[in-house]
Amino acid sequence: MFIGHLGVAFGARAAEPRLRLGTAFVAAQLPDAIWPVLVLAGVERFAIAPGDTVVTPLRFEHYPWSHSLSMVVVAGLAFGLAAAERRSRLRQGLLLAALAASHFVLDWITHRPDLPLVPGAEAVYGLGLWNSLWATLVVELALFAAGVACYLRGAARRGPALALAATLLVVHLGNLFGPPPPSTTAVTFSALLLIPLLWWWGNRVDRAARAGR
Ligand SMILES: [Zn+2]
Repeated sequence: MFIGHLGVAFGARAAEPRLRLGTAFVAAQLPDAIWPVLVLAGVERFAIAPGDTVVTPLRFEHYPWSHSLSMVVVAGLAFGLAAAERRSRLRQGLLLAALAASHFVLDWITHRPDLPLVPGAEAVYGLGLWNSLWATLVVELALFAAGVACYLRGAARRGPALALAATLLVVHLGNLFGPPPPSTTAVTFSALLLIPLLWWWGNRVDRAARAGR
């Protein structure tokens, strides 16, 4: 899942206006932010295997530190408390941690069984929504549209948020229907670059959304 996670972040920012959109994006994508770093370090592994599931050519072979339930909760709490603003640290921190945890839940729904609960465990989980392209599209686009709609309702200026949402949608559909990526290195580096880009663009859109208020 990609833009579904970001839809949840848009919704969380709408529910807690003091949260910054870019920070919410990073929290909702936290496991995917940690993952490329651990892949580069040789700690986690994935392969490009077209047909592994209908939706993605990526086969996640080993990613217990970035994607196990326990580590997602730990990383989410650490990130949440560090990134929250001082005046509402606990509330924002817990919300950011919940966003990180929502990443695990949504990955559990979409991935085929490949998610452990703790590092070192052999049992892996996943409901495998990615085995159906249409079910994936419906669930993910509905999440994204709902989150963006909630965000737009409270935005003073909507154009920049709509431009960001449209770009994310195009990139996502390109990933779904385009050719498989050329190499694992290309995937790893684009995943690495995506996070600061989302953070920067999300906060920029958020400043425009708050303008005039
Ligand atoms: Zn993930």
